[in-house]
Amino acid sequence: MDTKFFVDLEDLYGARNYHPLDVVLTKGKGIWVWDVEGNKYLDFLSSYSAVNQGHSHPRIVKTIISQAKQLTLTSRAFRNDQWPRLAKELCDLTGYEMVLPMNSGAEAVETALKAARMWGYKKKEIPLDKAEIIVCSNNFHGRTVTIISFSTDPSYKKDFGPHTPGFTVIPYGDLGALENAINPNTAAFLFEPIQAEAGIIVPPEGYLKRAKEICEKKNILFMADEIQTGLGRTGKLMACDYENVKPDVQILGKSLGGGCYPVSAVLSMREVLGLFTPGSHGSTFGGNPLACAVARESIRVIQEENLVDNCAEQGEYFLHELKKIQSRHIKETRGKGLLIGIELKPEAGGARPFCEALKEEGLLCKETHENVIRFAPPLVVKQKDLSWALKKIRKVFKKFE
Ligand SMILES: *Cc1c(COP(=O)(O)O)cnc(C)c1O
Repeated sequence: MDTKFFVDLEDLYGARNYHPLDVVLTKGKGIWVWDVEGNKYLDFLSSYSAVNQGHSHPRIVKTIISQAKQLTLTSRAFRNDQWPRLAKELCDLTGYEMVLPMNSGAEAVETALKAARMWGYKKKEIPLDKAEIIVCSNNFHGRTVTIISFSTDPSYKKDFGPHTPGFTVIPYGDLGALENAINPNTAAFLFEPIQAEAGIIVPPEGYLKRAKEICEKKNILFMADEIQTGLGRTGKLMACDYENVKPDVQILGKSLGGGCYPVSAVLSMREVLGLFTPGSHGSTFGGNPLACAVARESIRVIQEENLVDNCAEQGEYFLHELKKIQSRHIKETRGKGLLIGIELKPEAGGARPFCEALKEEGLLCKETHENVIRFAPPLVVKQKDLSWALKKIRKVFKKFE
């Protein structure tokens, strides 16, 4: 079976809500993936950072198999012996008091929004149905109807209205706008510490710290979506750690499932998550024993293999080398840890042709927002692999000169 067979099959029967590169993958191991024709590629996307631990990590695979044989799903109508352990281990890791488990990232964001509204009514005494949540322009928090309601990308929301009210959009990185947007009915500020999907947008230094101070002063929840930036991706355990900021609510997903299984979670203090009562929120698969066993092992792999430190070290090397590339097409190269973007000038003709050319050289990258090439390999990557990749990247930029 060749690539064309699978591409045609997918495009005939599958809804076309993605525009993938025409590479059909069939195997993965660590930083490498193989297509159906036997070609090998370095995975520079890591499934949008869900595969921080590398493809089919042996420890995580072993856990998923043994837990699958043991017990996979109880629903939360009954208790199981994995969820309480994950809950404690996540709280120990992050310093929060409570956690609520979900599956996809979008579900965790939805959970955080519900928690914020509930906190607004029960603790801050905002009049019922009047709570407002502040978000940033160019945000990406997922794809549910409510979440796309406060997206600023027309392609995400056009045709999906009517949209959910109760959200105020302010420019990202703008402290004055945050201060001005807060009113007595504001319950929370939801943000990404680095806007990854928007094209690796790093806010001005000090932004997170000062934004937290503003939220504290005005008594609103400071809610970090660390689904993509968390668990090591930016060279710290959480991207907010760069400014020693502890959000009131932290949202995790993606690599919490070690690239094997969807697991997400909302972490906060008792004052917030303690407000949920039986029946007020739930998920059939949230907190299932298979997910929890996988998440526990995924966290241990990050810690025991020092993936955060490796990310910081390799990221520094890689960014430094990428910045040295001379090309008339490059506008800016930026990022933190192994979340790096090369922004091309508008005249360059978009990032897609560059990604196609990189694919031919054995590097799988995906354009984000037209003009940015994202580099986000699994955090197990070694310097020799990155230096191999750099040769290929330089070659591609030379070709486009
Ligand atoms: C991927 C992502 C989400 C959504 O996660 P899904 O698992 O795709 O629903 C939310 N926020 C951020 C920052 C993300 O990167």
